[in-house]
Parts: sequence; structure tokens; C-alpha cells
Amino acid sequence: MKDKNPTVLFQRIAFIGFGLIGSSLARVVRRQGLAGHIAVCARSRKTLDKARALRLADSVSLDAGEAASGADLVMICTPLSAYSEVAADIVPALETGCIVSDVGSVKVSVLRELGSVLPDGVHLVPGHPVAGTEHSGPEAGSAELFAGRWCILTPPQGTPPAVTERVAELWRRAAMNVEVMDPEHHDQVLAMTSHLPHLIAYSIVDTATDLEDYLKKEVVKFSAGGFRDFTRIAASDPVMWRDILLANKDAVLEVLSRFNEDLTVLQRAIRRGQGDKLEVAFTRTREIRRGVIDAKQD
Ligand code: NAP
Repeated sequence: MKDKNPTVLFQRIAFIGFGLIGSSLARVVRRQGLAGHIAVCARSRKTLDKARALRLADSVSLDAGEAASGADLVMICTPLSAYSEVAADIVPALETGCIVSDVGSVKVSVLRELGSVLPDGVHLVPGHPVAGTEHSGPEAGSAELFAGRWCILTPPQGTPPAVTERVAELWRRAAMNVEVMDPEHHDQVLAMTSHLPHLIAYSIVDTATDLEDYLKKEVVKFSAGGFRDFTRIAASDPVMWRDILLANKDAVLEVLSRFNEDLTVLQRAIRRGQGDKLEVAFTRTREIRRGVIDAKQD
């Protein structure tokens, strides 16, 4: 019987949303037999057909409530703007003892949105696997996506440690390092490490888009000078990033204003020909790069 199998962490995992992140986690679950049953919900029949074709779903449904029914883990893997609709659909179907988790890139808004609507006896353990690519959809997924990266869990106060541990163990099986964090702190850190860099990439590529045609052609042709790396980041899903930047508005605006101040300082140094100032700034930044490499996050 499946529930006697020690590798089974959950009897039924319901994935609500099945794109890059959901399908990647499902690949890990399938490969290691971590769930007795994988239920998949997406918005379109096309995605459900792909989940079936990839042999990642035991059952599929366009109805999130149907997928969540009988689940001991519901993993929300949709863009953040779909959460309130998903919550309304799953709440009537959730059973006592069920854990609701997610993979969303912002955490305060998730706590606000889901924390107040889940029924008593249902646990909330929001999460963020800090791993990904600029690609979307179930075919873009990979069981190796999470290996060696961090997963941050932000359970609300009062969540039994054993409940958080069950979700942590799932991510550890995906070869992630797990850290429990306060949601506000998560959003401040990610505003700097992920949200601001994406905003800057979108902005630089947008600047190139507005160039006159004769210049634009040359920018694409000679993009290897650094621009190319920004175009990869700026090719990320527009809906997902719209949602992230709006959901983490306060923390993003805070780091953005600091960035603008620092950029102005560099701008002035260039105008005044103050090479020493530029050199000091560019030397300091190498330290950060060394830290990233030492932390094996390059
Ligand atoms: P994705 O590849 O675009 O997949 C999103 C999935 O959500 C699709 O299967 C879509 O269904 C489904 N969906 C959208 N609205 C829905 C609704 N109302 N009900 C049910 N399903 C719905 O997105 P992703 O890259 O996996 O990102 C998912 C979440 O992970 C986001 O919240 C993001 O913040 C977070 N995240 C992303 C990354 C990354 O690098 N991509 C990294 C860490 C965390 P259809 O396919 O049928 O349209």
C-alpha cells in the first residue's frame, strides 16, 4: 500500500497551475515517488493535456476545487494575480489537516491574501523556491531546476513546526537548501536580488526598443557586449513580472530609490571625469561577486 511506503511524503498533491515551477516540482515528486497521487489543475485544456503527455499527472481538472479535494498538500503555482480566484475555488474543498503552500516570488501579499480565508484546521506554509529561468510552461520544466538553490518558507506565527517541516522535506528532496524567514524580510531581500535586477533589465531593453531603426539593428548585431545578458532576463514572462513588481511595491520602490541615488552619483562622476570615484565603486562591487561565487550561487 502506498501509505506504508516511507518515500511517500503526501498522499495527494494538488498542483494549481502547472508551468515551469509546478511541472519541475512534479517531475521531482514523480521521479522519487513522493506522492500517492498527483492532481493537476491549469487554466487551459492544452496545459492539462501536456501534463498527461509528460506522465506527470494522475488526474487533471480545470477546476481547482476538484483538484484540491482530498489533497493533503495543495501547491499553488500560478502567477500571483490568480491567487484570490484560486483561493475562492479551493477553500470549500479543503480538508482538515491539509497544507496549502505556494511558490510565489512575493510573500507578504500571499500571507495577506490566503491567511485570512483558509478554514480552521488547514495550514498555510508559503514558500519561494529561488530558482528559475526565463522560460514558461510545463515543457520548460526540469527536475534539476532547484538543485543547490535556496527555498525560503514563510509560515505564519503559530504554524506547528512539524507542518513546516513536511513542506521543507519536499523541497529538500528537490535538492534545495531550505530557510525559514519572516515574509517582510523575504520581500526586502528579493526586491534587491531579483525584482530590481529584472526591472532594470526590462528598462534597458525597453530603451533599446525605442532607438532609431538604424541603431537598433546594430544593438542586436553586437549585443554580446553585455546587452545580451539583459535581453535574456527581459524575456521573462510579462504577466509574472507585472504581478511581482506590483505585489512587492513598497520594497521595490525603496531599493529603486536607493539605486537611482547611486546611479546619479556615478553619472556625476562620469560628467566630472572623476575616474577615482568610478574605480572605488567598481572595486567594491567585485567583493559582492566573490561572495556570490563563494556561496556557490553563481
Ligand atoms: P508559468 O510557467 O507561466 O505557469 C503558470 C501556470 O499557472 C500555467 O499552468 C497557467 O495555466 C496557470 N494558471 C494561471 N492562472 C490560473 C488560474 N486562475 N487557475 C489555475 N491555473 C492558472 O509560471 P511559472 O514560471 O511556473 O511561475 C509560477 C509562479 O512561480 C509565479 O507565482 C512566480 O512568481 C513563481 N516563481 C517563478 C519563477 C520563475 O523563474 N519562473 C521562480 C520562482 C518562483 P495555463 O498554462 O493553462 O495558462
